[in-house]
Amino acid sequence: MKKVRFEKKKYTYLDSLRFSIISSPVCMILYLILSLAVAILPTYQVIMNARFIDNALGLIDGSATKRAVYISLAIVIGIIAYQWLAWPIKAYLANKIEMDLRVSLKGAYVEKCSKIAFKYVENTDSMDLMNRVADTMEHKFIDGFTNVVNLISLFMTIAGLLIVLITQIAWVALIIIAVAIPLLYLSFISGKATYEANKEITKYQRKYKYLTTVMTGRENVDERTVFGYNEKLNDKWFEQYEISRKMETRTRAKWFVKLKSGSMITAFLCTFIAAMLINPVATGIITIGMFFSLINATFELVHTMSWSLTRLIEAVSTHIEYLKEITRFAAFEQYENADAVPEGGIEFKSLEFRNVTFKYPGTETYILKCMNMKIEAGRHYAFVGANGAGKSTIAKLLTGLYQDYEGRILINGRDLGEYTAAQLKAFYSVVYQDFARYSISIWDNIAIGCVGGADDEAVSNAITALKLDSVIEGLENGKDTLLGKLAQEGKDLSGGEWQRIALARCFVSESPIRVLDEPTAALDPIAESNLYSEFAKLCEGRTTLFFSHRLGSVKLEDYIYVIDNGHVEEQGTHDELMAAKQLYYTMYDSQRRWYQ
Ligand code: ADP
Repeated sequence: MKKVRFEKKKYTYLDSLRFSIISSPVCMILYLILSLAVAILPTYQVIMNARFIDNALGLIDGSATKRAVYISLAIVIGIIAYQWLAWPIKAYLANKIEMDLRVSLKGAYVEKCSKIAFKYVENTDSMDLMNRVADTMEHKFIDGFTNVVNLISLFMTIAGLLIVLITQIAWVALIIIAVAIPLLYLSFISGKATYEANKEITKYQRKYKYLTTVMTGRENVDERTVFGYNEKLNDKWFEQYEISRKMETRTRAKWFVKLKSGSMITAFLCTFIAAMLINPVATGIITIGMFFSLINATFELVHTMSWSLTRLIEAVSTHIEYLKEITRFAAFEQYENADAVPEGGIEFKSLEFRNVTFKYPGTETYILKCMNMKIEAGRHYAFVGANGAGKSTIAKLLTGLYQDYEGRILINGRDLGEYTAAQLKAFYSVVYQDFARYSISIWDNIAIGCVGGADDEAVSNAITALKLDSVIEGLENGKDTLLGKLAQEGKDLSGGEWQRIALARCFVSESPIRVLDEPTAALDPIAESNLYSEFAKLCEGRTTLFFSHRLGSVKLEDYIYVIDNGHVEEQGTHDELMAAKQLYYTMYDSQRRWYQ
């Protein structure tokens, strides 16, 4: 079966249809057939209603038989019964298509998100766009699809009814068309406006929904209790909620005014047309049956055109705006073949920064300025510097998360940009400061550190190496116990235990370079120092890069780079740097009391 994918292209209504057909072909065909029948029946119904009334009247003067009355009545009832039955069946099919779409669209969304360039993840606008695209995605697609099908079938109905009207009394049809066209145009414009307004509203909704999570979620329960910040946050929540509520009320009020004025135009037009039809029926231009049937159809038609049709056009125009956002999302640059990790691993010899200068996209301040350094395979390196000196930025650049730097970054003598995303991934395993705490078992938390899942022996070794055996013994279901606060029976661990798990995850990876970007910042200086030196011993012979603002933690590493003002200020071993009595010496001296 073909897969749904967000490829770089302009998305149109045909794509909504294509996605729905790929996801749920059988239901889609049934839905289309049912809709087609529903579309042409009203026209036939007008003719049959007229025939039934005329036959019934004919019984009185003897111009029609009872049989003819029964037959036309049976046909009218049959048409009504079909319309009644088709409605729930269509709703069921739409529901089924929505569920199938959920599976394929979510898959496509996750696939795209796993590949997009890192700069989008750190940017609020693109994150907002991604949230909007993902929010009830399948619902938006099924809505887009059903709305356009309903719109087409409505056009067919209207065309049929107008043809009947034109053949009977052309001028009534012309009046309806003349009134309807501006109404349709207005609804298209208002659909666009509604989407724009909702876009603005979601910005504020995102903020107050986040605050709701902070104030009510299990994740923050400890801090919430200690700091008692609920009242303050509640005020903030209220502020954001009020902005969004007022915007929503304004949008709805506009919509309501439109609805009511549409209904008034409808009522006026219907009365006018009914009055105009009295003369033709009195002079025998149309039969009494056709008069009643036409009045009925005209009421229906004017209502449909001023209300259902405008609503549908508004919905279709909203969906077109949504498709524009899908087009922007699909155009996000992505790392190709990001998952295709090279077989047999990747060999690492050296990594070099040559005059690397960098500022974050959309900002003006240079974070790195002509930075030079060299890493050689099999040694332990440390990057030290004050908070905000640019250490994490170095980690992001060397792992290829940002590639719009000036200067050169060379891995094994080749420019970083020449490697595929998958090859770059294969070079590194990284533990970040805000490493993830997955609500899965402790075993899986470690095993996912290796592409395709680490084998049992590697996970066991990592557990022993990072002294997690005793932690596992203390868990109710041992290594299979669910961790974290998300699961009902979830068991939460201490910060230090989570850090060991994150390090174990890095440890099972087969990547040649291990990067620790201050994952231990939450520990006290002595505990961090112990954990870093333990990890360094475990990584004997492997290339390891330690980042820290605490010098005592990394003094045993083979080589130290001191980062200040966006470049390497000093470099050497601990002893050399201490002997030089420059920046490193001063920093070390000022931190000495942390280790006493
Ligand atoms: P360190 O790891 O040494 O504490 P960082 O590399 O995290 O320092 O940050 C260096 C500077 O870059 C800081 O001034 C920080 O505000 C800025 N910075 C970090 N990330 C971003 C970003 N995504 N966008 C803009 N500026 C950033």
